[in-house]
Amino acid sequence: MAGDRVNLLGLPRTELEAFVALELGAKPFRARQLMKWIYRRGTADFSTMSDLARDFREQLETVARISVPQIVTEQLSSDGTRKWMLRMDEVQGIETVYIPEPGRGTLCISSQVGCAMDCSFCATAQQGFNRNLSVAEIVGQVWLARRELAETRADGRNITNIVFMGMGEPLANYRNVVPAMRIFLDDLAYDLSRRRVTLSTSGLVPQIYKLAEECNVALAVSLHAPNDELRNELVPINRKHPIDELLAACWHYIDKQNGRSITFEYVMLDGVNDKPEHARQLARLLRGRPAKLNLIPFNIFPGTRYHRSPAATIRRFRDILNEHGVIATIRKTRGDDIDAACGQLAGRVTDRTTVRLGTKLATPSRPHRAPVAEA
Ligand code: SAH
Repeated sequence: MAGDRVNLLGLPRTELEAFVALELGAKPFRARQLMKWIYRRGTADFSTMSDLARDFREQLETVARISVPQIVTEQLSSDGTRKWMLRMDEVQGIETVYIPEPGRGTLCISSQVGCAMDCSFCATAQQGFNRNLSVAEIVGQVWLARRELAETRADGRNITNIVFMGMGEPLANYRNVVPAMRIFLDDLAYDLSRRRVTLSTSGLVPQIYKLAEECNVALAVSLHAPNDELRNELVPINRKHPIDELLAACWHYIDKQNGRSITFEYVMLDGVNDKPEHARQLARLLRGRPAKLNLIPFNIFPGTRYHRSPAATIRRFRDILNEHGVIATIRKTRGDDIDAACGQLAGRVTDRTTVRLGTKLATPSRPHRAPVAEA
């Protein structure tokens, strides 16, 4: 039965080698061939894997499958950003965003359906937490995006960077996120360098220490406030892991991984965390440390009480940081016309697609979405 067959998508190399040895009595190089077909060539059909013997392919059909998530909708922004909603099961969807830039292409992927971190300024938080994505569902986002983008660059090099900045808290799904990252780094799969895979976290301190031991990727940390009082309010996980503990974990990570620096994300909320005094407090925390600050203009979403800081305030904030010896840059907002910008991702197949398609079926199941109307 299809359901009993093992989904090979998402099996890291050692597991795939074990699978072909135990289930099929085959040599490890068969696993390596399979990886190249699945990831590099983006094949999901065993019958086209021409360098595998016919009886091996037939054997594979009976015990294995390559299943990828299904695309529900695709939207294209006027700036070239693309957003896909992917169906995860009957009701749930997640969103994946592709951001083209000169010389590089970044895929922003999701790690969970919804999120439990409850950050007060994030759209994903409003939908609550539904479940973790499997390794196949995480890797499947990259697999699908590569297929969809194939026509834009024939050499398959359209995705140069992968960031866990979509829906969910990746370190809360550590068990599945780490194997997925191994596939992104594996030279038989997506072969990305460690600096081009970025895990963004709201600050799960114990998992940062664990990651430092187990997998070397770039780390981004959602700081958003320069003191515990304010951060407790914006990023509630701070009540459990306050700023000094979080920063200690960050410096440990850099030491352990020989990393260059941590990127601290800081959403600019009008009148909340954007005062000159906040910039000076931040500079005291980060000066002389391997840290860069990325200032993110707040992206609005239905039902939020926050507003974006004016552009001049954001520039002033950046200048104060720079004057105090902390590198700060302003993140360019991308894809906001299709709700694809940071913090705007909230995918539920049931409400979003019906709203998007403009059908009369649109009965958003969560009250806060009722007045959305995608005006
Ligand atoms: N859970 C991870 C990934 C989240 S999304 C994390 O917290 O880091 C990536 C970034 O977008 C995070 O820094 C997040 O705080 C930020 N973000 C969330 N909502 C936003 C909004 N409405 N406007 C701008 N940035 C937002």
